[in-house]
Amino acid sequence: MPRPFKCRLVAHEPGVTYFKPRGIPMTELEEVVLGFDELEAVRLADLKGLYQEDAAEKMKVSRQTFGNIIHSAHAKIAEVLINGKALKIEGGVCRMKGMRKFACSACKQEWNVPFGTERPAECPKCKSADIHRAAEQRGRGRSGAGGGGQGRGQCWGQGRS
Ligand SMILES: [Zn+2]
Repeated sequence: MPRPFKCRLVAHEPGVTYFKPRGIPMTELEEVVLGFDELEAVRLADLKGLYQEDAAEKMKVSRQTFGNIIHSAHAKIAEVLINGKALKIEGGVCRMKGMRKFACSACKQEWNVPFGTERPAECPKCKSADIHRAAEQRGRGRSGAGGGGQGRGQCWGQGRS
């Protein structure tokens, strides 16, 4: 029962997006997916020790929503640690703060690159090197891959399944 979510602001791009227990083949591992929004909530509340009110403000969500996000994150992390699962950090209902948008002159592909990472050398689609910074604009997130109803910004979340 998908319902529209408000995009959550994420200010930190994780350097590592996959964790797995040692010595267990991937084929036997169950994977838990933690959204960027959930990781951000953990970072703000648990790592930085912010009050939930302040953390909620940083993510541009209500205090109650923040509470839901952090609760979900804790449950997933517990699941991973206790039951020895793999953890993948991906997606989530959020937009990255400081995303830079690039566009390809050859195929018109547009994509986002997190602030702080290197400028891309080529178009991810056609490999052309003829790329440039695209003007930031409000509107659709990347590709609009059937998400629908996500509204504005660079929200790439597809809701929860
Ligand atoms: Zn291209």
